[in-house]
Amino acid sequence: MMLGFLLARAGLEVAVLEKHADFLRDFRGDTIHPSTLELMYELGILEEFLKRPHQEVRELAGQVGQETVTIGDFTHLPTHCKFLAFMPQWDFLNFVVEQGKRYPGFQIKMQTEATELIEENGRIAGVTAKTPDGIIEIRAPLTVGCDGRHSVVRDRAGLQVMDLGAPMDVLWMRISRRPSDPGQTFGHAQAGTIFVMVDRENYWQCGFVIPKGAADELRKRGIEQFREEVARLQPFLRDRVNELRDWNDVSLLTVKVDRLRRWFRPGLLCIGDAAHAMSPVGGVGINLAIQDAVAAANILAEKLASGSFSARDLEQVQRRREFPTRATQRLQVLVQNRVIRRVLSSSKPLTLPLALQLLQRWPILRRIPARVVGMGFRPEHVRTPDTSRH
Ligand SMILES: Cc1cc2nc3c(=O)[nH]c(=O)nc-3n(C[C@H](O)[C@H](O)[C@H](O)COP(=O)(O)OP(=O)(O)OC[C@H]3O[C@@H](n4cnc5c(N)ncnc54)[C@H](O)[C@@H]3O)c2cc1C
Repeated sequence: MMLGFLLARAGLEVAVLEKHADFLRDFRGDTIHPSTLELMYELGILEEFLKRPHQEVRELAGQVGQETVTIGDFTHLPTHCKFLAFMPQWDFLNFVVEQGKRYPGFQIKMQTEATELIEENGRIAGVTAKTPDGIIEIRAPLTVGCDGRHSVVRDRAGLQVMDLGAPMDVLWMRISRRPSDPGQTFGHAQAGTIFVMVDRENYWQCGFVIPKGAADELRKRGIEQFREEVARLQPFLRDRVNELRDWNDVSLLTVKVDRLRRWFRPGLLCIGDAAHAMSPVGGVGINLAIQDAVAAANILAEKLASGSFSARDLEQVQRRREFPTRATQRLQVLVQNRVIRRVLSSSKPLTLPLALQLLQRWPILRRIPARVVGMGFRPEHVRTPDTSRH
């Protein structure tokens, strides 16, 4: 969506396909990072964005056993917004669509699901897509696969995937929120479990992290036992865990961490999770996807406009974004293996790991995780023009 908006803003014609009829999915995270807010500042849309309902989080906190710890402090970042904004992703996407629609070249095609690639003379020349009115063909000099971690585009393109492994899956559910509830602490780790809670005003979006593949066993034990487990982790939810009536109220999100060896083929580029599926660790996948979009627009917009782009330009996008992707995934895999795997397999009460102890003793160190989560490696800046201003 972001790449579509940037290219239309630069005067190009873009069709963004979305297979669903709306963006009301619960599984992609709600975080808008300081670096994304900085891009909005560069695009001149930050003020308008901040008028939409959102929450501003200046410090990242978590709970280990009974102890509440502060992990990140965003207030020293060199960005206009020194906070992480929380906004349901459907509101954010609708906002970006509105921005895109200000440009005549922007088209959003809902309920249009890319199913196959059109290949001509060794180049990808577009896609075939399923719509409520039947199958259509959409042809384009450049097709961008940005269809997430189960990408059909990368699969059809036969691009080779390196699986980096993830030891966990997440059970995702909503439980109502009351004004008297405690504030948001995001993650709560206890021996054997990690429970995540995101404040969405009238409800909590909750994530119950489980060892990979353990969902069936949990289901077999019954919903009552699961409710009891949630209430044990967050006793203030005890009076409403019955809102989880059965397993239909709990969705299973499978976590993947992988990366394409090559992100492109002539006429085709993959970005975001389609190029590198991100773990939820650190909540940084949205940021990375948006940064990919900005880099792709910066490198390709002018060449697309003049019709002079080649596979070498697509390779340049991969080269630009490969280092931040590798570095972020390396950290995610480290946290998955050193922290999450251990917590999920532990039966003894947890003690505070050394890194978290250091963050409590020297608050200045909290600026490091804030920088990694809030800005990421190699933050991008908008270099594409706004053609409506000429
Ligand atoms: C449980 C979980 C929690 C997470 N929490 C966070 C978080 O808090 N913060 C964070 O930054 N990251 C989080 N992530 C990672 C984050 O969700 C992704 O990295 C990010 O959404 C990637 O963005 P994307 O645009 O590449 O793909 P997506 O956000 O997955 O978007 C892909 C879009 O393409 C559409 N689509 C799919 N297939 C087709 C098709 N064939 N044709 C047309 N449309 C199609 C989908 O409907 C979707 O709208 C989380 C991941 C998981 C698994």
